[in-house]
Amino acid sequence: MSLVLHVDGDRWRAHLRDVAAKRAGLVPVIKGNGYGFGLGRLARKAAWLGVDVVAVGTTAELGEVANRYDGDLLVLTPWRSFDLPDASIDPARLIHTVDRIEDLQALAGSGSPRVVLELMTSMKRHGFTPRGLREAAAYAAAHGVRVEGTALHLPLGPPEGNLAEAETLMTEVVAAGLATEGARVWVSHLTAAEATTLAQRFPELQVRQRIGTELWLGDRGALTVRAHVLDSHPVERGETFGYRGRKLTRSGTILIVSGGTAHGIGLEAPTGAGDLRSRASTAARGGMDAVGRAKSPFTVGGKARYFAEPPHMQASMVFLPTGVDVPEIGETVEVRVRFTATNVDAVEISG
Ligand SMILES: *Cc1c(COP(=O)(O)O)cnc(C)c1O
Repeated sequence: MSLVLHVDGDRWRAHLRDVAAKRAGLVPVIKGNGYGFGLGRLARKAAWLGVDVVAVGTTAELGEVANRYDGDLLVLTPWRSFDLPDASIDPARLIHTVDRIEDLQALAGSGSPRVVLELMTSMKRHGFTPRGLREAAAYAAAHGVRVEGTALHLPLGPPEGNLAEAETLMTEVVAAGLATEGARVWVSHLTAAEATTLAQRFPELQVRQRIGTELWLGDRGALTVRAHVLDSHPVERGETFGYRGRKLTRSGTILIVSGGTAHGIGLEAPTGAGDLRSRASTAARGGMDAVGRAKSPFTVGGKARYFAEPPHMQASMVFLPTGVDVPEIGETVEVRVRFTATNVDAVEISG
């Protein structure tokens, strides 16, 4: 086996339950590479948590989620006519995010759509202006579109917090007539305390909290990625090695470990070429030192080791200096990766 995400099952499930308890109105976000776990696995876990709605990022992700979880499906990317969901998915389960009046008009002609109207935040990614929101709310009311609430996508934890911005935006939601009894507001990136305060200020509203990272990856201690040692070769200073026939500047061991560019390993890794200045700037970006070595995410003896050369497609060559204990072929080493950017070969959940 190759690159494996090991999950302490009891600990992970306890964390999921804990977040669900702390975050009233939780909407698990299931998108991208499934935060390292895979979309289907997270869909089953959302069903296990017993939530009534989950959020996917794009329409393309609906298929993998829809048949492993049977509640409602919110699509976070705003609806566009060129990106329609597969016809096999029951439209009654779908809640579309809408951020332009022309899209609302197009949707209104397609049965009885359920929509969330997104209001622009300081993120400046998607969303109606306050005036656009009022127009959209009026249009939806007049044309039988079921408005499932308003969406606020806030930036990631600015130092001053997101509550002030959320409250300012809520005055626009009120002005658009979207804060009626039982109406929903779908928020992203509020702390638990901020969400609680918002819910207290607007007791007539249902606050729905869209959360991915904190839910799935919030207890890092329950998660480890490990790679197999596939091979190892003692090498002398001056020997050539690798795809580019480079010469070693030190003696030690070249360790071949599973995990490469196909897994998302070290994509920022430098080529080793370039003058000192470009190396220095690459160093600043990608963690390469002044002589052109790049730190790898593979740890041996408790330390992240340097790549001997940029990662290959499914394996990497890592350099261990003389004196470091060389792990045996078949042993595993820990890999410190970004879960959202890594495609593991398998997920093993204990318990
Ligand atoms: C991805 C996304 C989220 C979830 O973000 P996390 O930081 O993983 O919790 C929430 N809302 C929107 C609109 C998103 O695109």
